Amino acid sequence: MNNDIERVLYSEEDIRSAVSRLGERLTKDYQGKRPIIISVLKGASLFTVDVIRKMDVYLDLDFINISSYHGGTQSSGKIDLLNDLKEDVSGRDVLIVEDIIDTGRSLKYLKELLASRNARDVRVCSLLDKPEGRLVDVDVDYVGFNVPNEFVVGYGLDYDETYRNLPYVGVLKPEIYQN
Ligand code: 5GP
Repeated sequence: MNNDIERVLYSEEDIRSAVSRLGERLTKDYQGKRPIIISVLKGASLFTVDVIRKMDVYLDLDFINISSYHGGTQSSGKIDLLNDLKEDVSGRDVLIVEDIIDTGRSLKYLKELLASRNARDVRVCSLLDKPEGRLVDVDVDYVGFNVPNEFVVGYGLDYDETYRNLPYVGVLKPEIYQN
């Protein structure tokens, strides 16, 4: 599996320190509150379980599963809600935890969904941000790393459901997805 990676962008160590830095900020910003953490499956699963362990605050954890890729390396533009939240977000502080913000469409969809359910305050924490990919305007409050406009995998991010278990984030060799 490691042989399919052209280069490592963020090592395990890089990720660990970014997660700690974000956890510290989130601990400060959510002190005295009880946010609902909404982990966006499947990509944000690894990041979520690491970052919440660095948050010294009372919180609730919920998951939502949405899909925009359908197996390729280009967003299809259409968002499908595959599995909804279990918690009621009305009047609550919500922190969306994402793996990567690219076009911004998924995040816009989620923010609109949470607004329609009367969430009180909605913030976003994403491990990766790909600003050059942006097609819709969305704010991201907490970011681990800004990534170049390339297709990345690992630490939860997949290509066709593979590579999520790589402990680092890397760029896939183009021949893997061009075949
Ligand atoms: P957006 O709606 O912002 O275009 O895309 C958000 C979702 O697309 C992410 O949660 C992620 O699942 C997927 N995505 C965007 N860029 C990449 C990438 O470089 N690699 C992988 N594996 N997924 C990506």
